[in-house]
Amino acid sequence: MTHASHPEAARHLRSLFPGQGPVPNWVAGQWSTKTGDTFESIDPTTGQVLMELTVADEADVDQAAEAAAGASTSWWAMDGQDRARIMRAFADAIRRHGPDLGLADTLDAGRPIRDTRTRDVERAARLLEYWAGVTDRLRGANIPVQPGYTNVTRYEPYGVVGAITPWNYPLTNAVTKIAPAIGTGNGVVLKPAEESPVSALLLASISAETGLPPGLLNVLNGPGEITGDHIVRHPDIEKIVFTGSTTVGRAIAGTAGAMLKSVSLELGGKSPVIVFADADVARAARAVAFSGFNNQGQTCTAGTRLYIQRPALDAFIEALQEEVTRLRVGDPLDPTTHLGPLISDQQRARVQRYLDLGADHGAEQITLTTEANNGHQLGGYFLTPTVFAHLDPNDALAREEIFGPVLSLFAFDTEDEALTAANDSAYGLSASVWTDSLTRATRLSQRLQAGLVWVNAVNVLNAGSPYGGYKQSGVGLEMGLEAITQLMKVKSIWTATEPWASPWSG
Ligand code: NAD
Repeated sequence: MTHASHPEAARHLRSLFPGQGPVPNWVAGQWSTKTGDTFESIDPTTGQVLMELTVADEADVDQAAEAAAGASTSWWAMDGQDRARIMRAFADAIRRHGPDLGLADTLDAGRPIRDTRTRDVERAARLLEYWAGVTDRLRGANIPVQPGYTNVTRYEPYGVVGAITPWNYPLTNAVTKIAPAIGTGNGVVLKPAEESPVSALLLASISAETGLPPGLLNVLNGPGEITGDHIVRHPDIEKIVFTGSTTVGRAIAGTAGAMLKSVSLELGGKSPVIVFADADVARAARAVAFSGFNNQGQTCTAGTRLYIQRPALDAFIEALQEEVTRLRVGDPLDPTTHLGPLISDQQRARVQRYLDLGADHGAEQITLTTEANNGHQLGGYFLTPTVFAHLDPNDALAREEIFGPVLSLFAFDTEDEALTAANDSAYGLSASVWTDSLTRATRLSQRLQAGLVWVNAVNVLNAGSPYGGYKQSGVGLEMGLEAITQLMKVKSIWTATEPWASPWSG
């Protein structure tokens, strides 16, 4: 099948932004004309520069925060049904511009076009539609209290939410932050990862077609230590929502904590998949291939620690090998490709260090052969999926988040053994259990220390279902109605219904 070449597709993508020079930031509903330091985004498939962009400095953060504060005031004062209508128009615009938004993530992050133009665009649109359905239904409570008073709660937006996102699913990461924040009446200052900044900028410019008040959504680019840090420290940005590594999340929480600023953190993972011998083992193996290798393993909820009950071991490995044989590694612009490159040379080198560690430690490697792998001819950052078997559970390979297509496999005998091993992790983002036994599935889903548990499934999400990590995988929840109190302040209002009498008076 023929498809566009990277230079051709990159030229089209660049034509969607103004001028010939570095692409500006989006502030107060327009391209910011301010020039400044620049940085380059690289196409990981070819290793070539995709676009030059402008670094947002402290003054840009000031301007964006001011614009967001102003816009959020009028946005929140609006009839909720009007907010909902605009958010639905935003969702429609995302679908309309889906081919370009998808192309941006494919060129910028190496994520296959079969996913970016379809699942990712649809997920982004649905997130906005979900919050469009919430924004005119936000309400407090009338709480029964002692005689002489009424007490009501009132939900109020923070005002300006600072959102900082990673590079792995650029469009959906951005909308996962934007949709609930604006749905709860806030303005947003978003900083996407410097490795994949393009789709968020495109999204911001598309928002101008939808009636979203100028300034409600601002997108600033630049390194985390510069632009991100200014956002975290900005006194008028009262709430920080962050997705990224546990190390950076901890640093942001430290800064925000010192300022007594509220933070929600979606962090790393090393998620277990437990497969019992009574399960549909072939289906479990296909699920493992998807969960572990989709997006080249650069998924926070990737199932990367596999616990297989001993009688099912051979069948599982055979089915996994068979499933991987179907996968095509290569150019993500090719609609038949399943796995593209890793995000950067640095990330590939990082994953390669883990692969070398496996070899050094004499770990048994399960042979996986993909249907095609033409990635290496393209000049980018490609790797082949790998599974290490029967490692020491304390090996770094088995404990640390690799964020690449590398899985560890262990055999187990008893349920208790599997549960103890699965919970023996600093992380607690997700877990997947495969069994035909309802009682066992129920028991394990209650005992697994993870914010998300999938039974006979992997990696399903919905805008209406809460999402968040246990332990070092995060603080707070996003998505679902549970996100409302992460993004809004709750005020308790007491009104005397009788003349107030002092407790001292009698
Ligand atoms: P990262 O932590 O390096 O960067 C994330 C974002 O933080 C980027 O935008 C970066 O510029 C910014 N940043 C870096 N230093 C900063 C600082 N000092 N102050 C403010 N901002 C700063 O993460 P990454 O490498 O982009 O992404 C991979 C990580 O993200 C993995 O650990 C993965 O598990 C995690 N992740 C988690 C989820 C989740 O929902 N739990 C989802 C996707 C990715």
